[in-house]
Amino acid sequence: MLRRSLFLAPLLLAATRARAAAPLRVVASFSILADLVRQVGGERVTVRALVGPDADAHSFSPRPSDVAALREAQLVVRNGLGFEPWLDRLLAAAGGKVTTVVASTGITPRRMEGGHDHGHGHSHGKPGETVADPHAWQDLTNGQAYVRTIAAGLTAADPEGASLYAANAEALVGRLAALDGWVRQQVASVPQARRKVVTSHDAFGYFAAAYGVEFRAPQGVSTEGEPSARAVAALARQLKAEGITAVFIENMTNPALLDRLAAEANVRVRGRLFSDALSAEGGPAPTYEAMVRHNVGLLVPAMKGEGG
Ligand SMILES: [Zn+2]
Repeated sequence: MLRRSLFLAPLLLAATRARAAAPLRVVASFSILADLVRQVGGERVTVRALVGPDADAHSFSPRPSDVAALREAQLVVRNGLGFEPWLDRLLAAAGGKVTTVVASTGITPRRMEGGHDHGHGHSHGKPGETVADPHAWQDLTNGQAYVRTIAAGLTAADPEGASLYAANAEALVGRLAALDGWVRQQVASVPQARRKVVTSHDAFGYFAAAYGVEFRAPQGVSTEGEPSARAVAALARQLKAEGITAVFIENMTNPALLDRLAAEANVRVRGRLFSDALSAEGGPAPTYEAMVRHNVGLLVPAMKGEGG
């Protein structure tokens, strides 16, 4: 009897540990949310991003393994605001039972014009109509709200992790608040009249509103289809007239168009901004925080016309 319990005790202990250590299985719709979940969840979670690094959330084609991952998931984190129109069908295909957290809950969406395909096929609304702009994470204040919403979702799904999630979330919110201050300071170093940027798709509306930088992603030029030579020439004239030197492409869009525009306006394309997806590990923007630092690090000298 005694021998038997001595034999069993370590096994029971091991079984208890294994259960406590089994991480919460979370699926995030895209790489930026996956990073936030990882930062808040730490070792208590495993995270799979449906749309991975450098991939385009708007023209996503789900694989059978994505449905399987959703079926296994204990929590799904999505952006909302129309960013993942394909996810509802996918969730239904996976049985429709998993709890879903909408990271943008509680933020005030800005409006964007509908009817254009937003550079990579996420068409919202009809021409003349406005729709919610989904790219809310480009304002770090919203990023902080995302973190709190994600922490609440993780806590509801895994109450035993509450204190860890709260501590990680507060640390991350603190870093994002500091980063927000740094962005403001960086933008303030650019003369007001030069705070203008041209990008290949309209994903920086929240950044523009929060930090006082004007972004242009003109219609007819931001679509994936070939823009007319006239549209490119008109925009090139505008760049020259206003002395805009900050021209960028984004990590998941086709650079050919902006190359043409830059050549015609005689400016240099200043690099790749990360808007809707992170880079792979080892790239310039493997986390949300790194993405913001990378983007601002490119934007500020380009707006100033340095090194052009
Ligand atoms: Zn987008």
